[in-house]
Amino acid sequence: MSGIRPRRPVAEQGLLDIMGMTSDEFVAASFEQGVPRGRALQAYRTMFREGRFEGDWFGIEDPPVNRREVEGQTTKFTLALGDDHETESVLIPMHHRKHGTTRTLCVSSQIGCAMGCEFCETAQMGLVRNLSAGQIVSQWWAATHRVDTTVKNMVFMGMGEPMDNLDEVLQSIRVLTDHNGPAVPSSNISISTVGRIDGINRVAEFVKQPGYHRLNLAISVNAPNDRIRSELMPINRAMKMSELQEALLAFPLRGGAAFCAEYVLIPGVNDGDDHCDELSRWLEPLRCSLNVIPYNPRRDSPWPAPEEHDVERFISRAIANGCFVKRRGTKGRDVMAACGQLGNPEIRRRKRVEGSGLVQPVVEGRSLKVDPR
Ligand code: SAH
Repeated sequence: MSGIRPRRPVAEQGLLDIMGMTSDEFVAASFEQGVPRGRALQAYRTMFREGRFEGDWFGIEDPPVNRREVEGQTTKFTLALGDDHETESVLIPMHHRKHGTTRTLCVSSQIGCAMGCEFCETAQMGLVRNLSAGQIVSQWWAATHRVDTTVKNMVFMGMGEPMDNLDEVLQSIRVLTDHNGPAVPSSNISISTVGRIDGINRVAEFVKQPGYHRLNLAISVNAPNDRIRSELMPINRAMKMSELQEALLAFPLRGGAAFCAEYVLIPGVNDGDDHCDELSRWLEPLRCSLNVIPYNPRRDSPWPAPEEHDVERFISRAIANGCFVKRRGTKGRDVMAACGQLGNPEIRRRKRVEGSGLVQPVVEGRSLKVDPR
């Protein structure tokens, strides 16, 4: 992969392109414009640390954070990309027993998605387009400097399949971890994938480089066997669970680290006791935690959300089977901001509110409430 990315003079590039550059790349590109290195580096730091643009060679304007939709403490916001499209991102509060509350930022890597998973809202819109590294990084920037949130963790679990846009995703991670820029530790970043094996192998190479070995990988397993998985996730027709398991076994996990195996629990589909046992056996050789996600119904969903007692039964059984289990909350369901609910056209069609920081009611006429979890 090439080191220096800018092809056009910095002044001609939009902000979202600039945010896709590491500090080295930015300084080099600015230097070509006659800007001294020290001044360029200072401008780069100010952009990411303070959210201001001080270099007049930028020639750029603030990107509009178009909308904020809030349910309880879960905030969904969109960023205009200047071409009628928007990114969607979600800020999720994480409550810890000892350390108070931190925020996790869930970013999109694409607009829409080509993977076609049956249970996922985003899949319904198909793939509109890939996001650039800058458009991914700008989601962190907007969360930090326009929604004014301190982001601790970042997960690539918004719209899109990161492995289908891996060049830009990896470049965004170079920028996000840049010490002169956002300086998000790679141990706080997770890439979540449907299980594209070629992508997993490329990430395996990426994490062998200095500075990236703590990057986290999450796999959407979602089924106990190939029959059910192929029905839910078309990718499985091409890449079977045994091959997926092999790729994970070959992945260079740093000492003590674990994969996150995501499992969307869908009533009557993959939530049986035998499913749980079969899944536990598949997970057995892998160092991983099992993240059970109660299904959030997409629009026109053929399935309801699971009953609480069924979620608990599945989790207890997985624990008894020896799995390390975490349960994911269902925050944001009311604003279609929960897992698998991004890309709702009803929300997308609503009038855009220009300017940063404007709050629009979530869904008109519907009351907002704090999710009980
Ligand atoms: N394409 C990537 C990342 C986006 S999806 C991936 O597949 O991992 C992020 C997570 O949300 C995945 O684990 C996915 O299985 C889960 N998900 C998708 N639709 C969901 C839904 N309706 N309810 C709950 N989780 C869902």
